[in-house]
Amino acid sequence: MRSRYSAYALGLGEYLVATSARAPGPGEAVELSAWARTVGWVGLTVLERQQGGPADATGVVHFVARYVEASAVVSLEERSQFDRDAGRWRYLEGTATTSRQKLGRNEPCPCGSGKKVKQCHA
Ligand SMILES: [Zn+2]
Repeated sequence: MRSRYSAYALGLGEYLVATSARAPGPGEAVELSAWARTVGWVGLTVLERQQGGPADATGVVHFVARYVEASAVVSLEERSQFDRDAGRWRYLEGTATTSRQKLGRNEPCPCGSGKKVKQCHA
């Protein structure tokens, strides 16, 4: 489940599509990759897990993922539902809420690039 965050951070749209129960739209993997590479990934905090263990067929992960986009840190909070398909976890659905915290143009970008916000994810 955590691997999907890593796939976002690396811009691996094919993996995201392959680990989702929903059939992808045309070009969805390419669009996901492109978007994921334009934002700066800051981190993942798992707040709670329910089930999702070796003996379970379903699982829920409540998390906050943070990324930098348009000079703001976006915090995306979601409870994601997963199930197991032929032994592999796949994403079913989740309801996400986002909040944005504006950054100063001359602050160091939280994506870890070492650049100022205005030179990085402005
Ligand atoms: Zn950045």
